[in-house]
Amino acid sequence: MTVAFEVEPVERTPARERARLMAGAPFGEVFTDHMVTVRWSAARGWHDARLRAHAPLVLSPAAQVFHYGQEIFEGMKAYRTAGGPVVTFRPYANAERFAASATRMAMPELPAELFVGALETLVAADREWVPEQEGHSLYLRPFMIATQPTLGFYRPAQEYLFVVIAAPAGAYFAGRPMTVWLETEYTRAAPGGTGAAKCGGNYAGTLVAQRRAADRGCDQVVWLRDGHVDEMGTSNLFFVYGDEVVTPPLGDTILAGVTRDSVLTLAADLGYRVAQRPVTVTAWRADAEQGRLTEVFSSGTSSMITPVGHVRAADGGFTVGDGAAGTVTTRLRAELLGIQTGVRPDPHGWVHKIA
Ligand SMILES: *Cc1c(COP(=O)(O)O)cnc(C)c1O
Repeated sequence: MTVAFEVEPVERTPARERARLMAGAPFGEVFTDHMVTVRWSAARGWHDARLRAHAPLVLSPAAQVFHYGQEIFEGMKAYRTAGGPVVTFRPYANAERFAASATRMAMPELPAELFVGALETLVAADREWVPEQEGHSLYLRPFMIATQPTLGFYRPAQEYLFVVIAAPAGAYFAGRPMTVWLETEYTRAAPGGTGAAKCGGNYAGTLVAQRRAADRGCDQVVWLRDGHVDEMGTSNLFFVYGDEVVTPPLGDTILAGVTRDSVLTLAADLGYRVAQRPVTVTAWRADAEQGRLTEVFSSGTSSMITPVGHVRAADGGFTVGDGAAGTVTTRLRAELLGIQTGVRPDPHGWVHKIA
């Protein structure tokens, strides 16, 4: 499917102003000149694909998204590789997950070609906004909202808007191991719920716990269910037992991270034993204290692979390994970064030239 995007005239930010904005940009607060929008209606399906100025959306205050929360999103990065092309990582995996999130939220599926075509159209137009510095990227945020103006809650909305916006991002990884909070009061997801969908409501419900964790000096919340580890707020969790790399199995309470899937593949490629099996909080603590569990790290697009050094909980805390980044974590991170930046071979065809 090739989609022709209607191109509206857009006033571009002058180069010097753009450089100033990009240099001082706190993540997610400076945006490129363009955005892409595509509309869907029950009568017409997907239509009206446009490349236009990044600008406020005009919506009815009765738009269903404001009342019943039909919203899904994705997060990805575009970056420059050594040779010059701008690439992104496994965009079809994100397209597939976006479609799965849509299905769970009773929203229309966006064809993968249209999803990737929208990313390509936007990045080609905003190529100058892709940072040059190593580790920096252009963060891409595709999302979909229910726009039908009705307070009636008798069926899913009959009109939707798909949008892609982009924001230059600095290198997230500071190399500092995280301190995480084991959350035992609130839950993020439940069996049969929406935990496996990347929908806005999942995040709204976790902010109160994230704020309390921050007040206790923690970087992230670890979400638990029946004493089992699920994942973190925006990343999945891995446990390293010597040469074995373990992550909890997917289900409807865990978001299927593209980075998670890539780490599982890479770890096997590198000769580690790989397992998807449940990890309990009790085992996490005991295995860390007895030295069987040697490393813990998180995986996700925004923070890539980040070590977990310290764990805090209502009944006290403990340290993983010596609290510093471990060798397996460091190696996996270097391999993944090498593939992503084009300095290592890409045997699985993960890197996609976008502009
Ligand atoms: C986005 C997200 C992840 C990580 O997914 P990636 O595709 O690796 O970026 C993990 N958990 C949650 C809850 C997420 O929202």
